[in-house]
Amino acid sequence: QPTTILCIGMAGSGKTTLMQRLNADLHAKKTPPYILNLDPAVSSLPFTANIDIRDTVNYKEVMKQYNLGPNGGILTSLNLFTTKFDQVLKFVDKRAGSVDHILVDTPGQIEIFTWSASGAIITDTLAATYPTVVAYIIDTPRTTSPATFMSNMLYACSILYKTKLPFILVFNKTDVVSHSFAVDWMTDFESFQQALQQDATYMSSLMNSMSLVLDEFYSHLKVVGVSAVTGEGIDDFFEAVKAATKEYETEYKPEIERLI
Ligand code: GDP
Ligand code: MG
Repeated sequence: QPTTILCIGMAGSGKTTLMQRLNADLHAKKTPPYILNLDPAVSSLPFTANIDIRDTVNYKEVMKQYNLGPNGGILTSLNLFTTKFDQVLKFVDKRAGSVDHILVDTPGQIEIFTWSASGAIITDTLAATYPTVVAYIIDTPRTTSPATFMSNMLYACSILYKTKLPFILVFNKTDVVSHSFAVDWMTDFESFQQALQQDATYMSSLMNSMSLVLDEFYSHLKVVGVSAVTGEGIDDFFEAVKAATKEYETEYKPEIERLI
């Protein structure tokens, strides 16, 4: 059975570029993935998707027809697509025997996928059918300040608890900034506290208590640094996917079977 990798992350974190890199890497290994594009607003994709939401809905038409702004248009397009998701699953199912990975690209704006009914339906449906893991992609150069780092981690934390799926934190763009500062902060509580104290602009007592919450969150994660542009760290990424797939089998799947 293939593993589904859901690429989730803030706009501009590099989801689509990483998908392109993963696709190229898997093609080179002669194990091409099955690809789903769920971003209706992307103008051009640097890879060929097997299933592309843009083939089903035209988000600009949706905006016009329902008199919506861009975000409403994207959300409504995703809703329309989700009403046909049973058919999508049938297509995926036909190919599931011959692929090792299903890659899913999500809309640029993170909350459209993570906090919508459609996003939840798509995530839960895939996760009930295939081993599914979340790759939470982080724009490393933009998260070097302790306060930004913390809000990004809290967001990741909320997605972990919402999906309850195995979770890989992917620090992208390591060609620009190494993710070692993040690993330091996540493994050495004192070093994060120190960084916080130097950041005088934030309420440090609130931040201190929140960073205790995050300490617990970190223990549930796999962390990798990658560059979608240079390909650095991609092997580590696939190792993490393997480990996350095992975690799905031992922790997530029994829970689903109990509920079904
Ligand atoms: P998305 O909105 O999450 O899909 O982000 P994109 O994949 O469209 O990437 C946003 C911007 O970040 C683009 O200009 C990419 O070229 C750039 N980018 C993505 N990954 C990397 C990376 O690993 N290194 C560098 N330097 N830039 C990257
Ligand atoms: Mg994108």
